[in-house]
Amino acid sequence: MRVGSGFDIHRLIQGRKLVLGGVTIPFKKGLLGHSDADVLLHAACDALLGASGLGDIGRHFPDTEPSFKGISSMELLARTFRLVRDKGFCVNNLDATILAEAPRLEPHCPAMQVNIARVLELGTADVNIKATTMEEVGPIGKGEAIAAMCVVTLREKQGARSAG
Ligand code: MG
Repeated sequence: MRVGSGFDIHRLIQGRKLVLGGVTIPFKKGLLGHSDADVLLHAACDALLGASGLGDIGRHFPDTEPSFKGISSMELLARTFRLVRDKGFCVNNLDATILAEAPRLEPHCPAMQVNIARVLELGTADVNIKATTMEEVGPIGKGEAIAAMCVVTLREKQGARSAG
């Protein structure tokens, strides 16, 4: 069993769509970034890469690369999953927390779980998405940014090592 953790934060600004866990959420602001700036999926990618010993999201999908501009982070998650699978691992479970003062995210968490479970070839019971506020403390609490933390566990695919 292997464990990986991920963290990401993006600035909230006017004039961008808010996309979290592949779900577009109605809100007056969205997250600034080179891709769709989906902090939850970026934290998930880093947790997956960390557990696999494959570095981090910036190494595989640099924000200096024009082809990643505006890319859906669901695509980044799918590509990350292929890297994990090619290393001989499958995902056991994923747990994440989104830190956001607004909007209220709980109603959207089930749809995020479905999106992530589909890409990682998991049941929705193996993907847990939570949301919390920062009690108006700090930049996240003031609504200037949204962050996400993620933990995943991986296991070796059956026969992956013995095949050699
Ligand atoms: Mg990011």
